[in-house]
Amino acid sequence: MRFSGLRVIKEGLTGNKGWSAHWRDASPKDAYDVVIIGGGGHGLSTAYYLAKEHGITNVAVLEKGYLGGGNVGRNTTIVRANYFLPGNSEFYSHSLKLWEGLEEDLNYNVMHSQRGQIVLFHSDGQRDAAIRRGNAMRNQGDDAELLSVAQLKRMVPYLDYDQARFPIYGGLLQRRAGTARHDAVAWGYARGASDRGVDLIQNCEVTGIDVENGHVTGVQTSRGAILAKKVALITAGRSSQTAAMAGMRLPIESHVLQAFVTEGLKPCIDHVISFGMGHFYISQSDKGGLVFGGDLDMYASYAARGNLPLVEHVMEAGMTLMPMIGQAKVLRSWGGIMDMSPDGSPIIDKTHIDGLYLNCGWCYGGFKAVPGSGHCMAHLVATGTPHKAAARLRLDRFKTGFGLMDEEGTGAQHNLH
Ligand SMILES: Cc1cc2nc3c(=O)[nH]c(=O)nc-3n(C[C@H](O)[C@H](O)[C@H](O)COP(=O)(O)OP(=O)(O)OC[C@H]3O[C@@H](n4cnc5c(N)ncnc54)[C@H](O)[C@@H]3O)c2cc1C
Repeated sequence: MRFSGLRVIKEGLTGNKGWSAHWRDASPKDAYDVVIIGGGGHGLSTAYYLAKEHGITNVAVLEKGYLGGGNVGRNTTIVRANYFLPGNSEFYSHSLKLWEGLEEDLNYNVMHSQRGQIVLFHSDGQRDAAIRRGNAMRNQGDDAELLSVAQLKRMVPYLDYDQARFPIYGGLLQRRAGTARHDAVAWGYARGASDRGVDLIQNCEVTGIDVENGHVTGVQTSRGAILAKKVALITAGRSSQTAAMAGMRLPIESHVLQAFVTEGLKPCIDHVISFGMGHFYISQSDKGGLVFGGDLDMYASYAARGNLPLVEHVMEAGMTLMPMIGQAKVLRSWGGIMDMSPDGSPIIDKTHIDGLYLNCGWCYGGFKAVPGSGHCMAHLVATGTPHKAAARLRLDRFKTGFGLMDEEGTGAQHNLH
């Protein structure tokens, strides 16, 4: 089933009876070449690129709930490539390039909107840091523009420039940054993988990982044992738990991150805006709701909803930055479980167990990484060597201390950065 403008018109005129299911609801087979644990964005994109780029299709994605029910469907959908440090810089740049061709590649409307992201700065020191970051982005081949207050006032007149507790000194704009519809990204990759022969198995919880003589041999699940030559752990906020099934202790803390959506409003916020003095970010969805979020709840938890002090903190940050949003009614909020690494940067690597691969540590920012992560993870699983864009995302940096990518303001303990 292919989507096209003509098809949409035809189906619209004939009662929408011609659409078929987007993916096969598969049952588990006895054995696979590759088993992927986790049907989130990263697991599904890995399956897609394994099939598409490497011709490996005897693959199962095992998801304990439903596809897209984890963080991939719970985030604030910001897509950007504005990292400073080598390692992150080339990886997120690679991912953004994949985003730019994604809808055509998947033949799926993921509503990728490059509306631009502006990160505000509020002091001379922050301006210097923004200039350095912008230069790093441009050296990487990505776009970055420094905006003066006068330019900002023309583009985003609704911000409180002077009376805010933290006056706005300017902003760093990445025009190619923006948003996408999060669950459509999961569905698009699911459909692409399923079409190529990958089995997507929902309601199938992995309860054990079988290892013999240092080699992975398969997994135990709520739907029986499955043999596998290779197993990829791609379970985001649950990574510590799934790795523990193979006897591994990861340098990952799981924390709640909350998101909020208001009632639908007429278009008023054209870009993604990030507040440089508090952890606050906002955009407006195509349905008109203001979508925003802030900090972690700052304690380790597997709950998918957060606490009121953080709600207050996020609302205060929003009101400080743009008092007009005090008029809007918040309709919904929810939480997701973030896999926080100590340096705020991800891991795509082999493990000490032959055939067992690890993908985690996405912290606040794994949605924008979905294409790049799947692409690099598939390369690693298929070839046994890291993709050059993910060559620094090694697990052993936390053991040796070499190659840490300590991006400012990220990781489980912000005060340590
Ligand atoms: C509120 C919030 C806002 C965010 N905002 C942004 C943003 O603006 N931009 C951005 O880039 N990122 C953002 N993120 C981060 C991003 O959503 C995550 O980093 C990313 O989605 C994680 O990867 P994933 O999609 O594979 O995770 P998930 O969708 O969580 O996938 C992991 C899957 O593994 C499954 N699983 C776990 N254990 C097992 C098991 N034992 N057996 C089988 N399956 C299992 C889970 O059910 C889950 O479906 C945000 C996250 C949250 C919560």
